[in-house]
Amino acid sequence: MTRRKLVAGNWKMNGVQADLPQVRAIAECAARTPEIDVALCVPFTLIAPAVAVAGGLSIGAQDVHAEASGAHTGCVSAAMLKEAGADCVIVGHSERRADQHETSHDAWAKAAAAHGAGLNVILCVGETEAERDAGRAERVVQAQIEKSVPDNAAPEWFTLSYEPRWAIGTGRTPQADDIAAIHAIARAQLRRMVGDAADGIRILYGGSVTGDNAAAIIGIDNVDGALVGGASLTAEKFMPIIEAAA
Ligand code: PGA
Repeated sequence: MTRRKLVAGNWKMNGVQADLPQVRAIAECAARTPEIDVALCVPFTLIAPAVAVAGGLSIGAQDVHAEASGAHTGCVSAAMLKEAGADCVIVGHSERRADQHETSHDAWAKAAAAHGAGLNVILCVGETEAERDAGRAERVVQAQIEKSVPDNAAPEWFTLSYEPRWAIGTGRTPQADDIAAIHAIARAQLRRMVGDAADGIRILYGGSVTGDNAAAIIGIDNVDGALVGGASLTAEKFMPIIEAAA
């Protein structure tokens, strides 16, 4: 099954209205590469302004609450994201797992809520450096997938992203063989959970992707694109990654 490549940017806690020209420039680049999908996940406060300048570029959020409404100070529901114009959301990012103590179960509930509101989901999994050093990376990722991927995950709305925590923002990336091994295990685990639909589900790689390494990483078996943090903050850095995937 052919899977369209997806390159998604994650601006994390960066981006104010003064950065909207970057959104516009990224959108223009995405429009020149219609053979792949491009998304940009911005802070909540920038969703609506980004949508206003993004043309057809998919704008997403970086988190969502699992419940529809209620007494959750500071949280944002899936319906609110949808109303602001988002069409996708990242759940289970390792920075939220670390900083907000989110679990795989939380990621599962958030993914289900997002899907229920009509959002596409990018769900992140990945081992710590200690887990990799202990030879447990494959088992950790497999267990995270088992606990966090909804049973009804389907290619139309669900994307997995493998992001080894030690590779995020560090300039370090795994060996190509290691990425291939995890992605193969991830695909096999998805297959156990959702059957043939697993063949259509995109599995991104994330962690220190740049214009220099994007083509090699996206060329690895079972790597269907990239989730990009630091190098998505400016069009100048992000465009070579989009072009490498196209
Ligand atoms: P990075 O972040 O590209 O800055 O390493 C990736 C991510 O956290 O999604």
